[in-house]
Amino acid sequence: MKDLFADRMSKVPKSFVREILKVTEDSNIISFGGGLPNPDSFPHTEIAEAASKVLTLESREALQYSTTEGYKPLREYIAQRYCKGGLKVDADEILITNGSQQGLDLVGKVFLNKDDGVVVEHPTYLAAIQAFGMYEPKFHSVKLMEDGPDTVALENLLKKEKPKLFYCVPNFQNPTGISYSEDKRREVAGILRESGTVLVEDNPYGEIRFMGKDLPPIKKFLPDSVLLGSFSKVVAPGIRLGWVAAGEEVMDKLVTAKQASDLHSNYLAQRIVHGFLTQYDVEKHLDKIRTMYRRQRDLMVNSIEKYFPDGVTCTKPEGGMFLWVTLPEGVSSMELFDLAIKENVAFVPGKAFYAEDPEINTMRLNFSNSNEEKIVEGIKRLANALEKIL
Ligand code: PMP
Repeated sequence: MKDLFADRMSKVPKSFVREILKVTEDSNIISFGGGLPNPDSFPHTEIAEAASKVLTLESREALQYSTTEGYKPLREYIAQRYCKGGLKVDADEILITNGSQQGLDLVGKVFLNKDDGVVVEHPTYLAAIQAFGMYEPKFHSVKLMEDGPDTVALENLLKKEKPKLFYCVPNFQNPTGISYSEDKRREVAGILRESGTVLVEDNPYGEIRFMGKDLPPIKKFLPDSVLLGSFSKVVAPGIRLGWVAAGEEVMDKLVTAKQASDLHSNYLAQRIVHGFLTQYDVEKHLDKIRTMYRRQRDLMVNSIEKYFPDGVTCTKPEGGMFLWVTLPEGVSSMELFDLAIKENVAFVPGKAFYAEDPEINTMRLNFSNSNEEKIVEGIKRLANALEKIL
């Protein structure tokens, strides 16, 4: 059988995070490894009521096949929300997808031939490497600083390699929690404008800002780009709904690619989510998530400052679900991982998040999926493991 698999399958590794999640199924382990939202944040009752309404009142339509683009009122809702935030988007420029992860796959399918260039952040979202990797591109990476990418390096890379895509996560990035400043957003747009490279801006965490002021998407300064969104972090990931916002020319190709993949996204789920968004107080719901995650982030950052040895630093994200720890030069977070598992605590070693030249002394910690007691205890355990390795 081995000889029959397509070449692309030998080049794309299994998700390291998914492998780690298997280790952390043991209930004694406190896991900062997964990228899971807190289930206490899900609108359980509201979704149950919305589902019941859809199934009672609209089941003939909701259980039927539907259009590839998605449920029009849901696309209108998304477009209006963008407009309220100052980004002009039409409902026809929205394609509903099976999570934003499918958006990444469709973008890869539409744009990438084998050996085409894709620029990603250094480090970047692991499953974007996986999604684009299926189309066998050449990855290049651009270093992420505190306020966004190294724009000099980005400009040079675009000139030299003429990549098809630049993929980035400007809000509370997975894995680092870093956000682009407004200046960097404008600068990135300026660099990309005449470059012949398409910007793919991934924004699943933008609504979970718990500090600072909202910043516009780069698409605002570069309308001819692709912007991905998701309901996973603001409603629930199990519903598997996200979207792609793109202009007519790109949208046309994305729709064809999606037709070939799955005809359309779960229509029942689209109507339920739309019911939830329009019949309940969504702002109140979002505030609940923001308050919860802010408290968890504060506790994790404070515990790190209290218990971790000198020489270990971490980012202090203004939103999202992750923070990024840097160990002293030369210390391997993979080795730390083995010690940490013995202390019954898990995280994701940074190595997994680099498309090239991994930095071994980094690691990602998730703060959204643990309660306050677990955050303090888990950081203490991690500090014990750190004392051993340092
Ligand atoms: N992009 C980023 C940066 C993410 O962190 C995630 C979720 N881990 C996704 C996309 C995919 O999210 P979903 O498919 O659930 O919308």
